[in-house]
Amino acid sequence: MKYVYFFGEGKADGTGEMKDLLGGKGAGLAEMTRIGLPVPAGFTITTETCDYYLKHGKKYPKKLKGEVLKSITRLEKLTRKKLGNDQDPLLVSVRSGSARSMPGMMETILNLGLNEKSVDGLAKTTGNERFAYDAYRRFVQMYSTVVIGLPKEDLEARLRRVKKKLGVTDDTQVTAQGWKQLVGEYKAYFKEKTQAEFPEDPEEQLWGAIGAVFESWMGEKAVTYRRVEKITGLLGTAVNVVQMVFGNTGEESGTGVCFTRDPSTGERTFFGDFLLNAQGEDVVAGIRTPMHLIELKDRMPKVYKQLERVREKLEKHYRDMQDMEFTVETGKLYMLQTRTGKRSPAAAFRIAVDMADEGLIKVEEALERISPEDIERLFYPVLDPKVARSDLSHRKIANGINAVPGAAVGKAVFTAEEAEQWAAKGEKVILVRRETSPEDVGGMYVAQGILTATGGKTSHAAVVARGWGKCCIVGAEQIDIVAEAKKMSVNGHVVHEGEWITLDGGDGSVYSGQIDLVRPEPPKAYETLMKWADKHRKIGVRTNADTPQDARAARKMGAEGIGLCRTEHMFFKDFEHPEKSAERQQAIQEMILADNSESRRKALDKLLPFQRRDFVGIFKAMDGLPVTIRLIDPPLHEFVPHDPAKQEELAKRIGISPEAVARRVEQLHETNPMLGHRGGRLAITYPEILEMQVRAIIEAAIDCQNNKIKVLPEIMIPLTLDKKEFKILEEATRRVANAIIFQSKVKLEYLVGTMIELPRAALLADQIAQVAEFFSFGTNDLTQTTMGLSRDDAGRFLPVYVDQQKAAIFKDDPFQTLDVEGVGMLIRWAIERGRKTRPKLKVGICGEHGGDAESVKFCHRVGMNYVSASPFRVPIARLAAAQAVIESKKKRKK
Ligand code: PEP
Ligand code: MG
Repeated sequence: MKYVYFFGEGKADGTGEMKDLLGGKGAGLAEMTRIGLPVPAGFTITTETCDYYLKHGKKYPKKLKGEVLKSITRLEKLTRKKLGNDQDPLLVSVRSGSARSMPGMMETILNLGLNEKSVDGLAKTTGNERFAYDAYRRFVQMYSTVVIGLPKEDLEARLRRVKKKLGVTDDTQVTAQGWKQLVGEYKAYFKEKTQAEFPEDPEEQLWGAIGAVFESWMGEKAVTYRRVEKITGLLGTAVNVVQMVFGNTGEESGTGVCFTRDPSTGERTFFGDFLLNAQGEDVVAGIRTPMHLIELKDRMPKVYKQLERVREKLEKHYRDMQDMEFTVETGKLYMLQTRTGKRSPAAAFRIAVDMADEGLIKVEEALERISPEDIERLFYPVLDPKVARSDLSHRKIANGINAVPGAAVGKAVFTAEEAEQWAAKGEKVILVRRETSPEDVGGMYVAQGILTATGGKTSHAAVVARGWGKCCIVGAEQIDIVAEAKKMSVNGHVVHEGEWITLDGGDGSVYSGQIDLVRPEPPKAYETLMKWADKHRKIGVRTNADTPQDARAARKMGAEGIGLCRTEHMFFKDFEHPEKSAERQQAIQEMILADNSESRRKALDKLLPFQRRDFVGIFKAMDGLPVTIRLIDPPLHEFVPHDPAKQEELAKRIGISPEAVARRVEQLHETNPMLGHRGGRLAITYPEILEMQVRAIIEAAIDCQNNKIKVLPEIMIPLTLDKKEFKILEEATRRVANAIIFQSKVKLEYLVGTMIELPRAALLADQIAQVAEFFSFGTNDLTQTTMGLSRDDAGRFLPVYVDQQKAAIFKDDPFQTLDVEGVGMLIRWAIERGRKTRPKLKVGICGEHGGDAESVKFCHRVGMNYVSASPFRVPIARLAAAQAVIESKKKRKK
């Protein structure tokens, strides 16, 4: 096994493909070296080594030492410098880098190789003693904190003391002598704490640094980040040992981060931040607010031109937007990193579509590049345009850099811990920090939005928030944050912890108070890409909608019909005339409380016009598209009050005794209502409910048809057990429907089918299909009944089952992503058997899984006709359905 991969002077052992082994950074450095870009030489120790080290009680594999020493010798030859040399020393950086980007979550040590001798060598070759000792004190500080674990604050206190003694406030004002003195103090502190001298031997330094980087893979912040980002299955981090180049040797030097396209909008412009006379960490940490990349054009025209060529080359090479780090050392450009750039959802669409139009990628690739999260986040809220401009300007308190678009409303909190605590109580918070650091990631994750006083678009806060599509404003420099006092002040306005603020990540405005948000209109690139998706996919996409409003919203999202209309939702609320909601509720409650079929019918007669009107609204909204309407499903106790006061009120309203109400509620009580008197079982015992609902559906359909609105009703029976049960209900349905159709003398087509929600129904699907014209898999219940997991209560322990650090029994929550192995087997069986009986059997899914990308892909593979998703998940299903086609094509090719 090879543990170390060298790169330098146009040659590299590794390639850009070897991300898993070399990490993203290592693979990028190797690839950039290969294609002739200016990369400082170095070597990468593989992620497999990290895995070995962590699994073997922090021991390295035997062969590693030899390989590292050989690489060091090679590096020394190539650079004509030697580690620890007192004339012209080689210095290296030791950096982490895993296969998935984890910005700032692991450790880095710079300027390694400095000691009492080589610091003089560095001073000589640079002719700058101050610079040499500045580098040295940075190294001693990093080594002490990162490798040894000494508290950063203690070292920083010593830095402050030295500055105070020198009477200066800024680091740049500290003299060579000052830095020398600080190094002395750091070392004394080191000895006091560790009972050992600070290591002088560069080799010892190197092994310390390598171990520290490996160990940072299991550091708390890295583990948290992997948890929230759901990063699993990686071996560990690689270690990159690279010749140091300095961006802080003077005004001819600098360091920056740039993107080949704008990561917020996706526009094809060169975009980035740059700091003169600074080290790379200064840009990412967001401590100083950088200048725009374009200013480099004036300051260093040659370097800028060269960088533009690098941009072009890298984008062509990788065929995707790149995020690059570079350093200029006295006029010479060095590329330190390239990786696929994180981007806002809008940018993701624009870049994919533009690159396909430019011929850089194929349409299929463009489709593959969009993730379900991109779509979800595209519809993140913006400020309601109806809010008056005068109101906005009145409330505006600050302005920052618009790092990640979208808007957010929340209560201001000033530490990440508080953000987590408040959020755990169900509060919406905005995390306000001077700058964020990797330790803040938990608080950043739960916050609605993030606001920092410093930093640019590539600061830690911006990068992390962008990855999540979370509203983020950085560099709001007017804001003075006093975290200890839990407040911030800006232009005389004070915001205390818990007070509402609103962020507009679109333009970087910060407002006091709560401002209404709305979902935005999607960009043009979205429409284009979704059209491409529709062209590619084979499977239909419908929606779950219970109201005309939802139906209309879903059509806008591209729904091609309704796959599930839960009629019982209409019993609770009148969406078009809210004032009539009480009347509906009363009618349904009367129906439930009725103790004979005659009074039950009377109550149902009151409900009939409501339901009919709802169906007319839905049919109109769907305008000729198929609409699957499910008959009443939940157990009746869900519709009646359980507390005595409400029962008394109900009794009064419908003119019976409170005791009678209580008795009936008691009768309806079930120990296991989810397995109880619900679904088709209700219609078996109370056929008049079915009759009323079928009447409402068919009369509404006829009404529409008479008004030249095409309708395709599909009547669906829930929770079917077998053919016998289904047949009784199917016949009852047809009896009512056909009589009405016959009387009205119109020609109306309709289907009668069933949900498959019980294993028994799935197993006996061949028989059910003799009667049913369609199947719709109710995978919420089918998951519940197959796995024996209560969909209402399993949340108490499921997180442990899903957590990859804990029990890791499931990869995903089975109520969110279909359990393809178990529940999926029943689905396959049911489709196969059902279609044996009825080859044209229409099959769909209407559980929550219909809006989950992975589950949609499964539905495609098993040959369903359509999936049905809630309105805002319809585009996710459309895209996933197209991706499923592309994936199967690829598989077949293999
Ligand atoms: C299901 O069980 O998957 C389903 C769609 O029905 P409901 O969620 O209404 O039980
Ligand atoms: Mg169900």
